[in-house]
Amino acid sequence: MYEICAAVRTRPSDRQWYNKALPYMSGTLFVVATPIGNLEDISPRALRILREVGLIAAEDTRHTGNLLSRFGITTPTTSLHEHNEHAKSASLVGRLEAGESIALVSDAGTPTLADPGTHLIRQAIAAGLRVEPVPGPNAAIAALSVSGLPNDTFTFLGFPPTRSSDRIKWFEELRTAGRTVIFYESPHRISATLTQLYETVGDVRVSVARELTKKHENLVRGPISSVISEVQGSRGEFTVVVDVGHKTNVGQSDTPDRAQLPDIFRQMTQDKGMTRRQAISAIARRYGLSNNQVYAALENHKKSAI
Ligand code: SAM
Repeated sequence: MYEICAAVRTRPSDRQWYNKALPYMSGTLFVVATPIGNLEDISPRALRILREVGLIAAEDTRHTGNLLSRFGITTPTTSLHEHNEHAKSASLVGRLEAGESIALVSDAGTPTLADPGTHLIRQAIAAGLRVEPVPGPNAAIAALSVSGLPNDTFTFLGFPPTRSSDRIKWFEELRTAGRTVIFYESPHRISATLTQLYETVGDVRVSVARELTKKHENLVRGPISSVISEVQGSRGEFTVVVDVGHKTNVGQSDTPDRAQLPDIFRQMTQDKGMTRRQAISAIARRYGLSNNQVYAALENHKKSAI
């Protein structure tokens, strides 16, 4: 579809990409994936493009500077992050229209996936410019690939929100996904999120990937009840894969006999340290009952035990 002009590989300002599909010389916006830890994961094509474009738009120019200097790349960089993307995209589109090619990179992995860049890409598309992916690392897909969980269809939910009302909605979306779900989480929230996940969807299978491709890479797989304690206190970057479609307690019906609820309640309050109110809500959510129904079942059990 395109070829590099013969005159291209001199100085950055002379570099131009000729796109035969367009009637005029315009630049290409390359969306370049970079490593999520292990620098060996950068592709030869990504390196060539980072070397040959006129400008690299980077989420953090210092961070990308380290990658570039590791490979002896001297292409100029400019910052493009969530706070300046709207203001800056127009001038970058102008440069593309003038014939300069630009590479978009984020701090790690594939730009725009829980990372900035979408606005610039939309502006470039709207201007009729060529936008080309340079595929490579992505934490979500890497974590899914080693999870052993069903991956014929899956949902990516980015980061769980931090505000509690948004979190309730987000977990509800996850609970009803009915398939494998992947999400990102920060180290200081991973335990709380896994606990909330357990309360929302029950003891489903999860695979928690920590520090993928790095020295301390670690994968913990199993029912969420067993994974929570293993992850507690760990540092690093986490990606979680959850099989929401299947419960681990195979053979147990989704809605338990009401007589089982007191045992489940006891487990949650004594073993998992939940408050009475949290346990009632968790049981209600998990089994599609109302809080009142759970409360009534617990009260009936108490009365019958007297
Ligand atoms: N665009 C990136 C990608 O393609 O994977 C993701 C960027 S997002 C801002 C960063 C989050 O991705 C981290 O907080 C973590 O949840 C996940 N992540 C990034 N690198 C990871 C790694 N090496 N191992 C596990 N999770 C990682």
